[in-house]
Amino acid sequence: MFGITVGQVGYAVLALVVAFLVITAIRAIFFKPKKKEYPALEPEKVDAKRAAEHLSGAIQIKTVSNPDKALVDWNEFEKFHRFLEESYPLIHKTMTREVVEEASLIYHWKGKNPELEPMAMLAHQDVVPVEEGTENDWTHPAFSGKNDGEFIWGRGALDMKNHLICVMEACETLIEEGFVPERDVYLCFGQNEEVVASEDSGATMIMQTLKDRGVHLDSVLDEGGAILSLDIKGIIEGKSLIGVGIAEKGYCDYEISVRSKGGHSSQPPNHSAIGELAEVVRDLEKHQFKAKLMPFIIDLFSGIGRNCSYPARLIMCNLPILKPLVKAVMKKIPPAACLIRTTTAVTMCSGSPAANVLAQKASVTVNFRQMPGVTVKDVEKHIRKVVRNKDIDVKVLKAKEASSFSPTDSRSFKILEEICMSENPQSIVAPYLVMGGTDACYYEPICDNIYRYAPFNVTIEMLRCTHATNERIPLSTIEPAVAFFKRYVKRVSQK
Ligand SMILES: [Zn+2]
Repeated sequence: MFGITVGQVGYAVLALVVAFLVITAIRAIFFKPKKKEYPALEPEKVDAKRAAEHLSGAIQIKTVSNPDKALVDWNEFEKFHRFLEESYPLIHKTMTREVVEEASLIYHWKGKNPELEPMAMLAHQDVVPVEEGTENDWTHPAFSGKNDGEFIWGRGALDMKNHLICVMEACETLIEEGFVPERDVYLCFGQNEEVVASEDSGATMIMQTLKDRGVHLDSVLDEGGAILSLDIKGIIEGKSLIGVGIAEKGYCDYEISVRSKGGHSSQPPNHSAIGELAEVVRDLEKHQFKAKLMPFIIDLFSGIGRNCSYPARLIMCNLPILKPLVKAVMKKIPPAACLIRTTTAVTMCSGSPAANVLAQKASVTVNFRQMPGVTVKDVEKHIRKVVRNKDIDVKVLKAKEASSFSPTDSRSFKILEEICMSENPQSIVAPYLVMGGTDACYYEPICDNIYRYAPFNVTIEMLRCTHATNERIPLSTIEPAVAFFKRYVKRVSQK
């Protein structure tokens, strides 16, 4: 009609595709890590042998937490406190130490400049129990702290007596060297991090104690992220991904019940309570929460993408255009899906107490892990919206809200990034969302810069031993971790 032929349209499309490919080819050349010089670091003095001995000793003390405080052996915590006192004489001479609640600890190292906001380093003293019946599956007993020359074995070796001991080693050595911080330094060691959503958690009590004294923290460093080797031949080689947790997901358990008449199973209705409940479960699993690529995911992918080989960068540099595709793929892979949406996991279910009795009440327990921005109340709204049966009872059993996001342009984040990059220029420091809970989120009322990162280079296979059989840590990771904490304290505690 306007004199344009099919052939001309074809040429125009072809020209656009060629232009796109050429632009992509050029963009991929420049899609590289942002050039920045990181200063070389002075070597740090670390007594690795002493640190290993102390970690081994710490593991031997059974600081197991329990949701029921009456079932906790507090003597073990007292023993742990005495152990710290004997192991770190300079810390105990230089810092004040107080016990909050039953066994949580606050160490306070006074700085030279009271005008500056204090920094804090967190760790939890407690460990999870060893599952009954699995004690003999361990290569070395769970509370042996055995050092076989390659690993230190035992409960807490990775979660997180390693972290606590390395923080203490770093401070003890700094004091030995005559270091005095500019700002105050707090070491806060909770007593029950492993007990999810405990109302009177040690961390809450520590935070409250500090808050009551008018303390507002410059920054908090806790467990959460880790170092992960990235080595995929032809795509990305010899890189280390440093995941720094800038937020963590929430946690809630909801019990959803359906009621029915019950009665004798010889005269069943068309649908029993359990039959109705099956529909509820189907609705929940079919209608997942909406997935969303939050800015940190883009930062994460772009950080990795810039370090990929040229062919892979051809794809990665187009990430903003590929967002819908990335989202669709991530939704299909459970370990990726949990990064972009609130997860729904139906974990428990109950019906009648006998095989020949119809249930009067049938219930499922559903565990949700909320994305930041999704509240526990939002979860209930979602349940009521997607479940077609409006005759359900919904009850929250346990809940902890998701954290908010900490900024990635704060002074403390930049220092953390700089230390990691200087230690290993092949690092990719990327913000990350922590799936599990940490004590760090309880500090939100007194701190805006909360980071979750443990400077231990361990394989994914080894990380899987956390909370499981044969938890252990490679000896080789201890020295760099203590050096990291020394550098971190030195830099963050300055103005
Ligand atoms: Zn932990």
